[in-house]
Amino acid sequence: MNPDLYLRTTTCPLCSNEFKTVKVKHDGIRLLRRDSDLCEYYKKENPYFYEINVCPKCGFSFSDTFKDGLTDKQKEKFIKTISLHWKKTDYCGERTIEEAIEAFKLALLSGQTIGIKNSTLAGLCLRISWLYRLLHNKEEEERFMKSSIKAYEKAYELEDTNRGGDISPEIMLYLLGELNFRIGNISDSSKWFSYAIAKCNSDSLINPQIDKMIRDRWIEIKDEIKE
Ligand SMILES: [Zn+2]
Repeated sequence: MNPDLYLRTTTCPLCSNEFKTVKVKHDGIRLLRRDSDLCEYYKKENPYFYEINVCPKCGFSFSDTFKDGLTDKQKEKFIKTISLHWKKTDYCGERTIEEAIEAFKLALLSGQTIGIKNSTLAGLCLRISWLYRLLHNKEEEERFMKSSIKAYEKAYELEDTNRGGDISPEIMLYLLGELNFRIGNISDSSKWFSYAIAKCNSDSLINPQIDKMIRDRWIEIKDEIKE
C-alpha cells in the first residue's frame, strides 16, 4: 500500500460488522490551497477520498463524524431499501476518484434513507461537487452544488443553527452566498452574504479569521458583480 495510507478498523453503526478501511495517515496530508467555497487541494493523498466508510456487508455508508445511534426503525428501513439489494462491493481498499465519488453517493443515499440532518446531506453534496471539480466535470459539479444549496437552505429553515452543530451558522450562510454566486444566482448570493455579514456584526464568538474571510469575499463578489 501507498506509505501515506493505512488500514483502520471501523464498526458499522447499522449491522455492527467490524471492518478495516483505508485512511490517510496524518503525516500524509499536505494542504496546498483552498478554493473560496472551502474545497481543499492536497499535495499527496486527498483525505476526501477516504472520508466515507462503506460497510462491505450491508452497504451502510457513513463519515467518520457520524456518531448518531440508529433506531430499530431506521435500521429496518435501510435493510429493506438498500441492504437487500446491496451487491457487496468492496470500497475498503485504495480508491480512485470515481470510487470516492461512489462512496459519497452511497453515504448520501444512506443518509437520505435513514433521514439525517439537511446540513449533513448538504456537506456530502458539496464534497461530491468538489470531486467532480477535480475531474473537470462542470455539469455534475454544478448539479451537486445546487443540491447542496437546497439542503443548506432547508437546514437554515429547519435546524437549530446555533453553535455546536456540524457546521457553524456563519459558515453555512457564507457557503449559501458563495455557492449561489458560483451558479450565477446573484440575487440569492447577495441575500445570503448580507445575512452572513449581519451575523458577523452581531456575533462576537466568530473566529476573527472566518470573519475576515466572509467580509473579504463579499467585497470581491460585489466588485465582480459591478463588472
Ligand atoms: Zn453494515
